[in-house]
Amino acid sequence: MVVIMKPGTSQEHVEKMISYIKDMGLDVMVNQGVDCTVLGLLGDTRLIDPDTMMLNVHVDRVMRIAEPFKKASSKFHPDKTIVKVGDAEIGKENTFTVIAGPCSVETEEQIIQVANGVKASGAKILRGGAYKPRTSPYSFQGLELQGLELLNEAKEASGLPIVTEIMSPNLVETFEEKVDIIQVGARNMQNFDLLKELGKCTKPILLKRGLSSTIEEWLMSAEYILAGGNPNVILCERGIRTFETYTRNTLDLSAIPAVKRLSHLPVVVDPSHSAGMSWMVEPLSLAAMAVGADGVIIEVHNCPEKALCDGAQSLNLPQFESLMQKMKNVGAGLGLEV
Ligand code: PEP
Ligand code: MN
Repeated sequence: MVVIMKPGTSQEHVEKMISYIKDMGLDVMVNQGVDCTVLGLLGDTRLIDPDTMMLNVHVDRVMRIAEPFKKASSKFHPDKTIVKVGDAEIGKENTFTVIAGPCSVETEEQIIQVANGVKASGAKILRGGAYKPRTSPYSFQGLELQGLELLNEAKEASGLPIVTEIMSPNLVETFEEKVDIIQVGARNMQNFDLLKELGKCTKPILLKRGLSSTIEEWLMSAEYILAGGNPNVILCERGIRTFETYTRNTLDLSAIPAVKRLSHLPVVVDPSHSAGMSWMVEPLSLAAMAVGADGVIIEVHNCPEKALCDGAQSLNLPQFESLMQKMKNVGAGLGLEV
């Protein structure tokens, strides 16, 4: 962090600012310019609020140099994190992991049919919501505990590990026992009580990007989980809110290389919630591969026309099979194993 004093600030006021900074346990490097003095703060400045520093009338500007996240940062953790679940190694070099399944678990027949279908096409992990974050309280809210039981039946039938969304910190223990990867949805990305509980958990966390969150806010949420002691976080870009209304959200493809540069954590793309339309899932999945994502999470339903949630963006099983084939072919050209 650097503090730029206003031009013409007296030596006395510069000295006062230096003592104020040193009282916070930091060292100061003083650069005397022609017009103004620039103070470089040395030490852990994460807890310092730049706006509070601006209360000093002699301060012109305060700028952060280092990112506020540490455990999520590639600077402090040069090795890439690889999350191992079942046969999947998410984040492993030259590997592209496909997670697939319905938006919501609806019936035993539905989830088992989809689980077996996506497994046959090459998916490595089964998704399916049991606790659904719906905009309307009158919409289908998910089968809740029964949904978790059905997911476990589907896991048994297909051999695929399962990922499903948690909404309440009260359910962490249940999820820890019944689920292989715990998903934090976009709406809960900044539910800090939930993130703190998940930090104490032994299961990997799939952390979706918030509806209108910056990359830094997203990584700070990952930092909560890592700081709590859970090292296994998978980031998920699922589109953000913009002025565009043609698509459900705007898939921020540039976030993938950005996050890969800033962090060691694996990142997957959710083309289904990004687009909101099933026909756009294929081009966006291939784009995710091209920009260096570690995988995709795709909504697949045995009968999208009758889905209780997100049918319009769900692929049916033959469409998913065809997408897998395309991803395998394109992946081979990019040196990726799908
Ligand atoms: C989901 O994965 O079903 C979901 C609700 O996603 P998001 O949190 O990204 O909206
Ligand atoms: Mn959905």
